[in-house]
Amino acid sequence: MSKYIEREYSVIVEPDFRLVDEDTKNRYCEEIKLDIERHVDGLGSVYVSVVENATCSFCGAKWETYDEPNYPEGFPVCCKKAQDEFNKEQDDE
Ligand SMILES: [Zn+2]
Repeated sequence: MSKYIEREYSVIVEPDFRLVDEDTKNRYCEEIKLDIERHVDGLGSVYVSVVENATCSFCGAKWETYDEPNYPEGFPVCCKKAQDEFNKEQDDE
């Protein structure tokens, strides 16, 4: 048996968002995509990819919740402020 290495090549374009506000980032990316399609030869496909990362509005940590029977469903891990808010929301319901 011989070893075959398959390589996948792509070109990554990172937009300069310094002068772009949050609400128009997607449109800005779509415009770059159209510019690339209009001006660059030899393209397979061009697409805009968006990855959403949930973070805590209090401490900025990645949003995670406990997945254990000792905690209510959705109980945040990161900080006391987030946990206090969760408890308050539970009390309000
Ligand atoms: Zn937090």
